[in-house]
Amino acid sequence: MIKNIELLTSPEFRSKLSQCIHCGLCLPACPTYNALGTEMDTPRGRIALMRAASDGRIELVDFKDSLTQHINLCLACRSCETSCPSDVNYGNLIEAARIVVEHNRSSGMAERFLRWLGTKQLMTNRSLLRFIARALYVYETIGMQQVVRSTNLLPKTLQAMEAILPPINPHYQDYRVPAPADGNKRGNVLFFTGCIQEGFLPQVNQATVRVLQRNGFDVHTPASQTCCGAAHLHLGDEEYAKRLACRNIDTFLAHEGEFSAVINNAGGCGASLKEYPHLLTGDPVYAQKAKQFSDKVKDISEFLMENLHSPPEGELKVRATYSDSCHLRHGQKVVNQPRQLLGMIPGLELVELSSPDLCCGSAGVYNITQIDTADKILDAKMADIAATGANLIVTSNTGCQMQLIAGVRRAGLEAKVLHVVEVLDLSYEKESVNSE
Ligand code: SF4
Ligand code: SF4
Repeated sequence: MIKNIELLTSPEFRSKLSQCIHCGLCLPACPTYNALGTEMDTPRGRIALMRAASDGRIELVDFKDSLTQHINLCLACRSCETSCPSDVNYGNLIEAARIVVEHNRSSGMAERFLRWLGTKQLMTNRSLLRFIARALYVYETIGMQQVVRSTNLLPKTLQAMEAILPPINPHYQDYRVPAPADGNKRGNVLFFTGCIQEGFLPQVNQATVRVLQRNGFDVHTPASQTCCGAAHLHLGDEEYAKRLACRNIDTFLAHEGEFSAVINNAGGCGASLKEYPHLLTGDPVYAQKAKQFSDKVKDISEFLMENLHSPPEGELKVRATYSDSCHLRHGQKVVNQPRQLLGMIPGLELVELSSPDLCCGSAGVYNITQIDTADKILDAKMADIAATGANLIVTSNTGCQMQLIAGVRRAGLEAKVLHVVEVLDLSYEKESVNSE
């Protein structure tokens, strides 16, 4: 008996499945099809497998060998959604399939412990995350990292985790005090910091706050916020993701009426926050609140393009390329805004990738759980980046930024990887220095 199979047999799920007309137009947009070349690793193939499971045509033993394998290889990047002429909501389909797969999988003690530690302790505890980040900073700066990287002695999974560790700058902002607007105040916003972002790339959050201040906003960062729950959903733990969602909703709605938006700067987190209404559908207490909350959620680029009062004027002489975050591009449909912001910076030459819509292989924890395929996808992305000749790679999601930093090292490129908001912040800084 397949556990939780009702998620794949509900009329709602079957109706979403039936929207696929098997046209195959999504195939070229699918990174796993590009990397592996197999029909079962395309959106169409995975939908066919989901339909077979839904119709009861897959036995438990085959389920583990077929559906599980191909669902786990999906990045959930949702590139297929953008190219689908039939509006198949692939994101919802893969989310349900993952929960079923997860509930029918047996995992070892070590894996269960690592998941518990990562998703239920680290990601939900800012102090612990900062403590670990500081320890890793020491590991990076006393030369241990060089030794570890040169010996390749770590087990494969730990090696993959180590490879995406960015250079850590453990100087954390005290968010208990709201950051006041520079000059004329135009409004108040709340800031969602994210978990890994705040632990490992705190400079991105600090740049976000400065850019918002520069544009006339007081920035409040509620202390009781927690992880968005995207990684938990990615790993099929819907119940825990719901708990985190409810806590965030309560935290941010407690300030209802005092702010105009909830700003976030990570494409994956933002997509997850905007999808709380779907996650909490049917919840008697939170369904309505989730809608109220998600209506306020804005990615930083999306918000700035609607509220930019101080265009960046400091010159940055760089050749840059922008690597989309899949969840920002395909999930939130925020495509032009980051490019428009970069395009305003004097001196910055923006060169498009030939396939900006393809994932970099980060995809939540994909680069740790599907190491070989993630590496193939990353190599394709880095070749595309190298062809632009850019010395600055710009992105808009924590996982992508870490993956691209690792990709630059892997490909031997001479390029910096920054978030859009860090580039804006640099331009503002340059402007201030010039005017002194
Ligand atoms: S979500 Fe991404 S990897 Fe998965 S089927 Fe769609 S395009 Fe392919
Ligand atoms: S493009 Fe859409 S309708 Fe066509 S095969 Fe892909 S998912 Fe199905």
